[in-house]
Amino acid sequence: MAWDFETDPEFQKDLDWIAEFVRTEVEPLDHVLGSPYDVKNPNNIKLVRPLQAKVKARKLWACHLGPELGGQGYGQVKLALMNEILGRSHFAPTVFGCQAPDTGNAEILAHYGTEAQKKKYLQPLLDNEIVSCFSMTEPQGGADPLIFTTTAVRDGNEWVINGEKWFSSNAKYAAFYIVMAITEPNAPPYQRMSMLIVPAETPGVEILRNVGFGSEGEGSHAYIRYTNVRVPIDHVLGEPGGAFVVAQVRLGGGRIHHAMRTIADAKMAFDMMCERVISRETQGTKLSEKQMVQEKIADSWIEIEQFRLLVLRTAWLIDKHKDYRVVRKDIAAVKAAMPKVLHDVAARALHLHGSLGLSNEMPFTGQVISSFFLGLADGPTEVHKVTVAKQVLREYRPSNELFPTYHLPNVRKHAFEKYGDQIEDLDEAV
Ligand SMILES: Cc1cc2nc3c(=O)[nH]c(=O)nc-3n(C[C@H](O)[C@H](O)[C@H](O)COP(=O)(O)OP(=O)(O)OC[C@H]3O[C@@H](n4cnc5c(N)ncnc54)[C@H](O)[C@@H]3O)c2cc1C
Repeated sequence: MAWDFETDPEFQKDLDWIAEFVRTEVEPLDHVLGSPYDVKNPNNIKLVRPLQAKVKARKLWACHLGPELGGQGYGQVKLALMNEILGRSHFAPTVFGCQAPDTGNAEILAHYGTEAQKKKYLQPLLDNEIVSCFSMTEPQGGADPLIFTTTAVRDGNEWVINGEKWFSSNAKYAAFYIVMAITEPNAPPYQRMSMLIVPAETPGVEILRNVGFGSEGEGSHAYIRYTNVRVPIDHVLGEPGGAFVVAQVRLGGGRIHHAMRTIADAKMAFDMMCERVISRETQGTKLSEKQMVQEKIADSWIEIEQFRLLVLRTAWLIDKHKDYRVVRKDIAAVKAAMPKVLHDVAARALHLHGSLGLSNEMPFTGQVISSFFLGLADGPTEVHKVTVAKQVLREYRPSNELFPTYHLPNVRKHAFEKYGDQIEDLDEAV
């Protein structure tokens, strides 16, 4: 059967277990602990490790990875079905061993790391004993990597890195960073940069400040300066000049995983919206009986379902082709669609809760801010729409005629040439 929208009943049992476990054991962590990336914090160790052990015992740990890396090799569709539950909680991805950006960074290390690097960084990363950071964006602009200026210059058996990076998430907790720097300044633009592993403790790595959102105070998005940072020559991942190839390995997975978790976030807002409108009365009826409210429920349900199907189909395509590059258009489409779905659903949920919805006693303002996060992290929406459009237009050919191919007089002319002699009472038929 080529088209099947049902979940295999055996895996559904796992999903039911995950849903209950996340709701009762994991979601409360969001309210008593700080960052899931603070893996050395004694409270995190005390509360998170036993839950991770339960997940491992149930064989649901790091499901996106193959068995050779300690995962189950479930692929992206099963991961999507899991992530649309895990996305309800900040801690759930960490408890299940599939948190960004470590998933993407682990994929890079698995693909391109030396045996020694895999032992030193990949294994502890997969075991969540350490976390990692992806350090690419620069203060002068993130959407256009061709204006990055950070350099890594070869000096004997070392690379010497100089430059500044902006919004390197979780750098303050990370054991190592993957840094994008110009190593081949004279090569064509897309072959100038390389990805390098930089251990966090390397002299010359300086976090200037940790930027936060809104009024949160210190956040976790580091503004970093690299001054004469020296790393061994083998710390380049992939070929020198191959940063864009390596980035696709990382970002393709990262983007679709965010999308899977976004379904959960939007669904949470939707569930709260539905509960509220059938509970709250105004002007003699429940909110749910007012048509303008019903429209918000219907629009939200449709948007979530449309998005979910796009995500699942893209996950299925990744499993089928096992190459993110082939599925670039679909991943870009998912990435472009995701902020809008979360924004619109969360904004409606906020609005339907009235003043309570806007207050800091409900999660909606945080979700609306998150939608902007999704529209920027891993590249702004506009850039992904451009990718979709370019890829789509490659499938079309221009018309060499003055009028379009589907200009009706032309279409009719061909139709009559083909079938006209078989039509009786031609004048009445048209
Ligand atoms: C929550 C969060 C986490 C992040 N984590 C990391 C991280 O861990 N590591 C890392 O390296 N970076 C990270 N980033 C940075 C992210 O990759 C950049 O924010 C993103 O690439 C955009 O770059 P910029 O912020 O410099 O915006 P700019 O490049 O200045 O773009 C600003 C705006 O200009 C418009 N624009 C840009 N290009 C185009 C175009 N081609 N066509 C039309 N309009 C355009 C868009 O509206 C865009 O939002 C993170 C960002 C966020 C918000």
